[in-house]
Amino acid sequence: MKKTLIRPTSLAPNSSTPLVSPIIQSNVYVTKDPSTLDKIYNGEISGYTYAREKHPNSDILAKRINLLENSEFGFITSSGMSAIAAVLFGLCKSGEHVIGGDQLYGRTLRILQDDLPRLGIKTSLVDTTNYRNVLESITKHTKIVIIELISNPTLRISDIIKIAKVCKKNNILLVVDNTFTTPLTMKPLDLGADVVIHSITKLLAGHSDVTLGYFATNQSKIFKPIYDYAVTTGLTPSPFECWLAERGMNTFQIRFQRCQENAEKLALWLQKRPEVINVIYPKLGNHPDIKIFKKIFKGNSCNMVSFELKGNRTSADKFAKNANRISFAPTLGDVGTTLSHPSSSSHRSLSKHKRKKMGITESFFRVSVGLENFDDLKNEFRKGFRDLKK
Ligand SMILES: *Cc1c(COP(=O)(O)O)cnc(C)c1O
Repeated sequence: MKKTLIRPTSLAPNSSTPLVSPIIQSNVYVTKDPSTLDKIYNGEISGYTYAREKHPNSDILAKRINLLENSEFGFITSSGMSAIAAVLFGLCKSGEHVIGGDQLYGRTLRILQDDLPRLGIKTSLVDTTNYRNVLESITKHTKIVIIELISNPTLRISDIIKIAKVCKKNNILLVVDNTFTTPLTMKPLDLGADVVIHSITKLLAGHSDVTLGYFATNQSKIFKPIYDYAVTTGLTPSPFECWLAERGMNTFQIRFQRCQENAEKLALWLQKRPEVINVIYPKLGNHPDIKIFKKIFKGNSCNMVSFELKGNRTSADKFAKNANRISFAPTLGDVGTTLSHPSSSSHRSLSKHKRKKMGITESFFRVSVGLENFDDLKNEFRKGFRDLKK
């Protein structure tokens, strides 16, 4: 009889623990009796029930990011987009209104333009680099303002402090996607935001091998509906991916510092190149939002640099081909430098006219700067510039 029992025990009690978090793939948890299970569901004692609700590896990862963001309630989701979806769909109902930055991440814009309106939630997209645009768009139905602090790919900056004040005064929730800025540069909850979001996929995990997201708040009444939406619709992550991201996060701070140093050096070097018309980096004196930058960024910045070459698409093709050791790939935050060309990728759905208005021409590139030795990186750019228009 004994031999026919399947899984009679799990790990035996042990007097030592592994240094590294184990990967716990189990999708279900065994409890002693119904009353114990009840207590777990009620939050009276800690424990896990079913992996869609949460699991040890997602919990460990959430706690790591909570520490960086000074947040009390954080949760890991299957992607950055599922975190954004959970926040917006979990908090809004038909008849309400959402204001978003007009340069938000492409898929976030799509939720605001297509998905929320389909459910009767009105939306307005505004240039949040001037907080007055937010103020002027508020209606009595406005529930949420969602912003990124550094826009992609033109790296414009929004004044979180002013926007947070406007939101507070009008009883509106401020949601900040902190992916580009990271908690090393900015801690939105400390500055008046109600919810912070990350695409862990990018800088936090840092190795282009996981797709994960995170949302957090310090208010349990806000956390509950977002969490319930994420769990009900199954937006939860796999233990293995959480484990990989936890491993990546061991080096996040040192990676980000190094990427920023390289980014600043690259921006200054690009400015002097005859093949380049324009360089955008928040720390440069000619940045249009330099005042806001100095006020709120406190020395930190980001690892993104955008630049425009002389010439057109032909120059862009030549550059990407010549600099073939810089990966031409539409992502950011990898350990290695990656190059993206917005007009053929992230911003391809916009009309040429709209792109031009934003400054995104056919020879405009966005660089996510990595950890390389700077001289090697510079030499690769130099190789890219070979035979280009000066
Ligand atoms: C990539 C990204 C997202 C989406 O994250 P995924 O993990 O790819 O779903 C959202 N916001 C910003 C700013 C991003 O860069």
